[in-house]
Amino acid sequence: MELKWPRIVAGFPNFGNFLRNRRIFCAEDLGNHQRRGYTRRMDFDINSQLRRQVVAQLTQRGITPTRQRVDIGMRLLDRDRHVTADQLLEEVNRSSGDVSRATIYNTLGLFARKGLVREVVVEAGKHVYDTNTAAHHHLYNVDTGELQDIDSEQLRVSGLPDLGAGLCFDGVDIVVRVRNKIG
Ligand SMILES: [Zn+2]
Repeated sequence: MELKWPRIVAGFPNFGNFLRNRRIFCAEDLGNHQRRGYTRRMDFDINSQLRRQVVAQLTQRGITPTRQRVDIGMRLLDRDRHVTADQLLEEVNRSSGDVSRATIYNTLGLFARKGLVREVVVEAGKHVYDTNTAAHHHLYNVDTGELQDIDSEQLRVSGLPDLGAGLCFDGVDIVVRVRNKIG
């Protein structure tokens, strides 16, 4: 008996729509060429979703979402992390390549003032920007430069001084500095 492939194919939904909808189309079903296209489309989807999220975050904090601020935000705000201005400059310029050091510093300063990131001074002259703005402290290894979070519940402060009239408590940031034992 003759197989009637054309009938089955004719009933198949538009292939382009399938490719655009990653929830109903599995990458493993595609050939190599199609899979590469699929991956690019997925990256594009994820990037445009992240871009929208960053624009919304900036707007919520009263920051005008210029292209460079959004590019920087996309590198910075996609997860909880600690990063120096120089590290971020390198990361941003690896993809877009036209952001100056001054723009990075100004943007990080603006983000910090607007509460989008927290600036942590780990030692004299070394500032780290923290995207986790919830209350927590830090453990800093002066030998390796590694910075780790300490849950605020793990480190309590007692005996705060009398603040006097006109002042109220805003927060305490503690950096516990450690170094590697010798021998
Ligand atoms: Zn942190």
